[in-house]
Amino acid sequence: MISTLKQLGEFGLIDRISKGCLIRPDRVIRGIGDDAAAVMFPDETILLLTTDFLVEGIHFLRSSISGFDLGHKSLAVNLSDIAAMGGLAREALVSIAVPPDCDIEFIDNCYRGMKALAAEHTVNIIGGDTTAARSDLVISVTVCGSVKKEKILCRNGARPGDTICLTGYPGESAAGLHLVLNDIDTQTDVFTYLRRRHYSPLPHLAEGHWLAGTGAVTAAIDISDGLSSDLGHVIRQSGVGARIHMDRLPVSDALSQFCRRLGPDALDYVLHGGEDYILLCTLSSADFVDIARKFEQRFQRPLYSIGEIITGDHIELVKAPGKIQRISSKGWNHFK
Ligand code: ADP
Ligand code: MG
Repeated sequence: MISTLKQLGEFGLIDRISKGCLIRPDRVIRGIGDDAAAVMFPDETILLLTTDFLVEGIHFLRSSISGFDLGHKSLAVNLSDIAAMGGLAREALVSIAVPPDCDIEFIDNCYRGMKALAAEHTVNIIGGDTTAARSDLVISVTVCGSVKKEKILCRNGARPGDTICLTGYPGESAAGLHLVLNDIDTQTDVFTYLRRRHYSPLPHLAEGHWLAGTGAVTAAIDISDGLSSDLGHVIRQSGVGARIHMDRLPVSDALSQFCRRLGPDALDYVLHGGEDYILLCTLSSADFVDIARKFEQRFQRPLYSIGEIITGDHIELVKAPGKIQRISSKGWNHFK
């Protein structure tokens, strides 16, 4: 019998909570289990809703992140969930629990960071809540967005034969986090860049909305917990398996340099490093070449094809011809 949170894990707990949550399921397109909840309005536009916490000591260390970056990141992680649904972000609610030792300037800067990113994506901050806290700063952001009914991207539509794509480089944020946690001197451009990738992620809203507009994408998710974990959500919800080719995994120059200098295997960072907030999507292999060409024209960088959806229920990694290894989802999971 499962009796502790540690045994249950984050996803087990969410699963347990989710039973009995929908009293009026008629207009709910996606409830618990996708990047954002999706509810149909009478005019057939879909309202997207998502919320995320950033908790001191769990998601950030107040002593090592600036207020500006914390504000930016707390909104960015929510915008990324709207991006993963193919939507446009519209309104945000921000709640803060502030401990007595927190400077007003820190909170001011936090809102500067949030407002700057909100302005970039034309999002209003329309409300929230403020309370005192005993010792840890907590920020909770809720974002609502919208998407046309026929354009919504969900986690559950991947089909065998689909190409698996990434809109950017995975693993950089985890490399940046490693530098922060180990207090490694970041005076070099590359290390500074990796730290920025961790502290100031750029949600792929334009990419998600553009991909939804092509009508060719069968499933999408943002990389928040790590490629292995997030691809795991897509295959479980779609009832399929996935094959990834090691030689096609995009490794950025910055991550390569990081690994050369500090020794770790880039593959670990690429497969299991979280918080990149790039998008993973699947699309019919027949559409891939055309979509990838147009993506590159629009965004001036490639849409990386890293593998294909197969029948089955697990992720396999092709390390060399005939050399296939099963990989397990090793990304972030609270309580574990
Ligand atoms: P993401 O990493 O994309 O933000 P999560 O892993 O946090 O997604 O959440 C997965 C799903 O579970 C989402 O649909 C989310 O809304 C839902 N969820 C998470 N925590 C709770 C909770 N305490 N109560 C109800 N639903 C939850
Ligand atoms: Mg998500």
